[in-house]
Amino acid sequence: MTPVDRALDRVREGRAPDAAEAALLLGLDEARLPPLLAAAAAARDRGRGRRVTFSAKVFVPLTTLCRDYCGYCTFRKDPGAPGASTMTPEAVLALVQAGERLGAKEALFSLGDKPEAIFPEHRAVLRRLGHRTTLSYLRAVSELVLTKSSLLPHANPGVMSERDLSALREVSASMGIMLETTSERLLGPGLAHDRAPDKVPARRLKTIALAGKLQIPFTTGLLIGIGETHAERVDTLLAIRDLHERHGHIQEVIVQNFRAKPGIRMRDWADPALPDLQRTVAVARLLLGPEMNIQAPPNLMAEGYARLPEAGLNDWGGISPLTPDHINPEKPWPLIRELARVTEAAGYELRERLAIYPEYARRPEFMDAAVRAAAARLAGADGLVRPELETWRAW
Ligand code: SF4
Repeated sequence: MTPVDRALDRVREGRAPDAAEAALLLGLDEARLPPLLAAAAAARDRGRGRRVTFSAKVFVPLTTLCRDYCGYCTFRKDPGAPGASTMTPEAVLALVQAGERLGAKEALFSLGDKPEAIFPEHRAVLRRLGHRTTLSYLRAVSELVLTKSSLLPHANPGVMSERDLSALREVSASMGIMLETTSERLLGPGLAHDRAPDKVPARRLKTIALAGKLQIPFTTGLLIGIGETHAERVDTLLAIRDLHERHGHIQEVIVQNFRAKPGIRMRDWADPALPDLQRTVAVARLLLGPEMNIQAPPNLMAEGYARLPEAGLNDWGGISPLTPDHINPEKPWPLIRELARVTEAAGYELRERLAIYPEYARRPEFMDAAVRAAAARLAGADGLVRPELETWRAW
């Protein structure tokens, strides 16, 4: 019996693979994929039932400036470059209220990391807006969204200190930072995280741990296909598992696949293929357990996302009725009716969730009072969006 046979036997018996076995499973050839996928799908069914969720959101690119230069990013801009912008509070509110009219429930703030650290132009913009840091400005606009709309803010601004997290917690339903990878190797010259000080794994792990200490429902995940090895991918998943075991605050884990595009340093890299994404979703499910919410964005694997529920996924992430995916603008969201059709064809019910997952929405210690009240207005008895507010079927 080979080590791969042993690893497959173990997952067939419903047990989690160890680190070495998980790395072997990530390299499984396509012909041997079915038992791995079946084990992961069975675990998902045990823990999450036959339901796949999504969040109706508005994507708010608060600032496209960033002090990092990740090799795969088209979102970030330097001041003065085409597309460089910082939204005013009025623009944020107008966007969020337009989304509200279409039935969105989440305002996802995506922004570059600490641009004021290297760009005096951004410091001047912040000064005009009455702030010293981007994170203080983010808190102010999050509060605006919470008080002037029905949407729940979800902040995704990069590395944060305990003080930043604590201030944002008062006005956010949930927060997140993609761990992406624990590989320090990828910080090397010419690699994915060269010139990206906020991608030092220890800094991101610390942010996630602090969020746990502060009881913030938290989103994280890994980015595959950026030069990491299978063992490094497993190490990333195990680091997330370890943080969740210590703090119990990881509400979802995203498995995001790199996509090559013009204008990035890694434009000539190969995209991970569907089997690679399926294997990683399945291994994430087996390592993180039946209860974890495992998500993969359908627009990043438009040619095969229908095959992801069979790998153990139970969430499609945010889908917007209004805004494009600003991180991957060339990859449009699937039509929601198509997503519902694909989900139902796989044997699952599609339901709308809030930015905060039901298991956290039920626990008062995970939300400040104002956020709790806003979430209660949107949530039904099962913690998902009230059926009468699920307007997405009309999009
Ligand atoms: S991925 Fe995030 S941190 Fe990296 S350059 Fe883009 S916006 Fe900045």
